[in-house]
Amino acid sequence: MRQPSVAIIGAGIGGLVFAHALRARGFEADLYEQSAELTEIGAAVALAANANRELERLQLLDAVRVVSAEPTELIHRDGRTGIRISSHPVAIGKSYEARYGAPYFGIHRADLQRVLSKRFGGTIHLGHRLENLVESASSVRMTFANGVERDVDIVVGADGARSLVRRFVSGDSGAIYSKTSAFRGIVPTAGLHALLDPQALQFWMGPRAHLLHYAIGKAAEDINFFAVVEGPETWPHADKWTIGAQPGDATRCFTNWHPAVTEMIGAGWVDKRWGLFVVQQPKRWHTGRVVLIGDAAHGMLPHQGQGANATIEDVVTLAELLVRGRQRPLIDAFVAYERLRKTRTRSIQRASWATNTALHLGDDAALDRRDLVLTKFPERYGWIHSFDALNSAESPAQV
Ligand SMILES: Cc1cc2nc3c(=O)[nH]c(=O)nc-3n(C[C@H](O)[C@H](O)[C@H](O)COP(=O)(O)OP(=O)(O)OC[C@H]3O[C@@H](n4cnc5c(N)ncnc54)[C@H](O)[C@@H]3O)c2cc1C
Repeated sequence: MRQPSVAIIGAGIGGLVFAHALRARGFEADLYEQSAELTEIGAAVALAANANRELERLQLLDAVRVVSAEPTELIHRDGRTGIRISSHPVAIGKSYEARYGAPYFGIHRADLQRVLSKRFGGTIHLGHRLENLVESASSVRMTFANGVERDVDIVVGADGARSLVRRFVSGDSGAIYSKTSAFRGIVPTAGLHALLDPQALQFWMGPRAHLLHYAIGKAAEDINFFAVVEGPETWPHADKWTIGAQPGDATRCFTNWHPAVTEMIGAGWVDKRWGLFVVQQPKRWHTGRVVLIGDAAHGMLPHQGQGANATIEDVVTLAELLVRGRQRPLIDAFVAYERLRKTRTRSIQRASWATNTALHLGDDAALDRRDLVLTKFPERYGWIHSFDALNSAESPAQV
């Protein structure tokens, strides 16, 4: 039986890992990426056990590990006093790995993309921006902005939160602005004199804002930070993630916060403000031959650090179902994939929204309850990290 031809639109984290997941199962795919070169979107990414167990199965984890840092602990602090509200060991005593069966890493996005693309070694068609899809009973015709046209059996939309493929699949136009925005940067660890526990992943929480940071790099030599604030009320550009920031914009949002926070933000070269967007999941994630993965299907707020991790869960599920169901109609695999992934990703999307509220509480009565919940973090959010996507695809009845 002829292997179906598969085109992946987008060579981000989802597209690249999907290509690996197919190849590991004896299938090949072509990747089409709009950018002329693979450049990282954003600065860093945290890879949790639910993704790392899949990277291990794809024999990618060792290469990822050597360019990653493992946080010592997860710590939540009061953003102004610096008081530790809760802490849970991660690398300390290998606690996280023992609990969830795989490690937790902070990694520079460029390093991750480099590992994924180098180890793939297959065809990545750079400078190919998809402009149109026409589906017939027997194939899909893709038209790119550079004039190239190709016919394939299957198109996988891994084209991110502003997905064109999603528009084709569901008619839905786009991502929704969350009315929150972020400043981000990477700063050398050695210059942060006020920072307590520099090797930990830490949330500093306060009214209407929070700062998250974790170490990245082989020797944890840099700190990636992500400072989130409420507002602006509306986002000025429908088609842009970022707007320019003036010197001092970021630090002004954190006046009177702990010196560790102001020092870190002040040390970053913050000339951009990122709008944080979510994708309302389309009713259907597929047509007969076109299917969505990752942010294109379920872009989420980053406060559980799960967008890329949930995307890696998607790709393993879809690859497994496609290859296992190759004797059956394609639509069966797509229907099973959507059924397996919709509820879980919606739950993570909701948890990420709720976390935004919890991290931004003012000085009110809800603080005590929030702080109590944080002391039970593994009990509350362990379901995200312990999930085994391959297992769920192999025995869908258990989901
Ligand atoms: C500020 C921030 C911090 C984050 N931190 C974390 C974290 O710590 N942990 C985590 O798990 N997730 C995190 N995420 C989320 C994570 O980055 C995304 O969920 C993940 O990258 C989704 O992967 P993707 O492949 O679906 O999309 P993307 O990585 O966005 O890739 C989409 C690709 O498609 C290409 N493309 C788009 N349109 C076209 C077209 N028409 N034709 C061809 N190519 C196209 C793009 O150029 C891009 O390369 C964060 C997100 C943000 C915004």
